[in-house]
Amino acid sequence: MKKLRISIENVKNLLEAKGVKPSFQRISVLKYLLQENNHPSVDTIYKNLVSQIPTLSRTTVYNTLKLLSEKEVISTLSISNTDLRFDFVGEPHDHFQCNTCGKIYDIYEISDFSELKTVDGHQVQEMQLHLKGTCNRCLESLN
Ligand SMILES: [Zn+2]
Ligand SMILES: [Zn+2]
Repeated sequence: MKKLRISIENVKNLLEAKGVKPSFQRISVLKYLLQENNHPSVDTIYKNLVSQIPTLSRTTVYNTLKLLSEKEVISTLSISNTDLRFDFVGEPHDHFQCNTCGKIYDIYEISDFSELKTVDGHQVQEMQLHLKGTCNRCLESLN
């Protein structure tokens, strides 16, 4: 997982550009998402931020994510049916989830499918690929 250094100013500008009022809690949630780049769930974000923002509630985190999703700042991953995961909308990419450790990795290298223009006469405009298996770290620890 790459950890990025994101300034509050950047996050604020990003929210304003999307027409979202940059409240402190919204900035904190989006900053976490950008910085950690780990496709967190509502719970993960809440647990990580509540120590810094004692007034934060799970509902606020959820509502913030819902708003950011509606404004297309972030996207909701449908890789798992059981828990909702969130991702920043940046460069289009696919996902790989490890069945062993549960981590979700960004995949940028699948190019064959991006050439796909039509399927069964349907015009393809976007595609999300969800791959599942055993990640390279888990494979290493098995050997
Ligand atoms: Zn793994
Ligand atoms: Zn991603």
